[in-house]
Amino acid sequence: MEYSILGDSGIRVSKICLGSMTWGEQNSESEGHGQLDMALDRGVNFVDTAEMYPVPSREQTYGVTETIIGNWLSKRKRRDKIVIATKVVGPASDWMPYIRHGQTRLNQANILQAVESSLTRLQTDYIDLYQVHWPERKTNYFGRLGYDYSDDDAGVAVEETLSALSECVRAGKIRAVGVSNETPWGVMHYLHLADTLGMPRIVTVQNPYSLLNRTYEIGLAEVTRNEGVGLLAYSPLGFGVLTGKYLQGKRPQQARLTLYKQFTRYLGTRSQAATEQYLEIAERHELSLAQMALAYVHSRPFLTSSIIGATSPEQLQENLDSSHIQLSDQLLRDIELVHKDNPNPAP
Ligand code: NAP
Repeated sequence: MEYSILGDSGIRVSKICLGSMTWGEQNSESEGHGQLDMALDRGVNFVDTAEMYPVPSREQTYGVTETIIGNWLSKRKRRDKIVIATKVVGPASDWMPYIRHGQTRLNQANILQAVESSLTRLQTDYIDLYQVHWPERKTNYFGRLGYDYSDDDAGVAVEETLSALSECVRAGKIRAVGVSNETPWGVMHYLHLADTLGMPRIVTVQNPYSLLNRTYEIGLAEVTRNEGVGLLAYSPLGFGVLTGKYLQGKRPQQARLTLYKQFTRYLGTRSQAATEQYLEIAERHELSLAQMALAYVHSRPFLTSSIIGATSPEQLQENLDSSHIQLSDQLLRDIELVHKDNPNPAP
């Protein structure tokens, strides 16, 4: 397993991070614990979660994934062996009104309360990486195209959000701060405020990145490279589409996109077309599509860690094994041809 450092924090993490958003929904608590055990045995020391997990979010399961991780920490007594990343939701009063009775603006009171609740559920007294799950302002994330705006879009100032996070860092409750679903402007704004006001610099951007969505390469890759910030790539298999299992209209039983029809981000016709071509390349190079897709993300120079997800030990095994795969120059050229012809089919 290779390791990297989270920005300037000195925190060392494995280049594969274990995602957890199925635990408490598609996966039981004991399956989640099994995944943690297997991943740690294989050199993973990094787990990503969020207050709102599992996904899809529901009132009855809010916070359950963090509780599952907390129970594992309490049983295994391995807190010092694992780097925990979690997140506070952005504005979500219409979508998840049950979170803090609809109080989800990224203001000081909500952030302080969210941190305390996560610490309690995780049964720990510090969070290694605390991330803002999505921005307060209206901008391009979760696949939103175009840029419509009005004067009242801004909401709580980033200065207040960062100041609350800074307070938690000073109190020893958070070691480092990150953002998620952010844009180049958002990242630069956080960094500028940190530098001018003496607050913590963000160390990571957790954004989608996969063969079906390489939008990070335009804007954010340059910003983060020059600012010492790292990419935590989420959905490296495009919700499972980059295994090829949904091709030709197939809908395998118990698979995420069969169970939850609302998740359509990776199922467009251009995604299907690109996936077919990537499958053909993988077969030609004697790899599974999942492994080729994960190894591709793993090989990107701007990657800090790739957040994998699995619902079975077999999937987890296959995904962890991808960390040893080196993609040949010819294979990378083949991938570029598909990308050029059909770029970012699932932005
Ligand atoms: P993904 O790699 O795109 O999809 C993972 C899913 O694909 C698995 O749950 C499994 O689902 C299927 N799969 C995985 N490996 C497979 C294999 N070898 N063969 C066949 N099917 C396989 O990643 P993701 O789950 O969407 O995201 C990973 C993590 O990123 C999450 O747990 C979370 O921590 C983070 N995340 C963050 C955000 C954010 O907004 N910040 C958003 C999304 C995710 P099925 O078995 O159901 O098919």
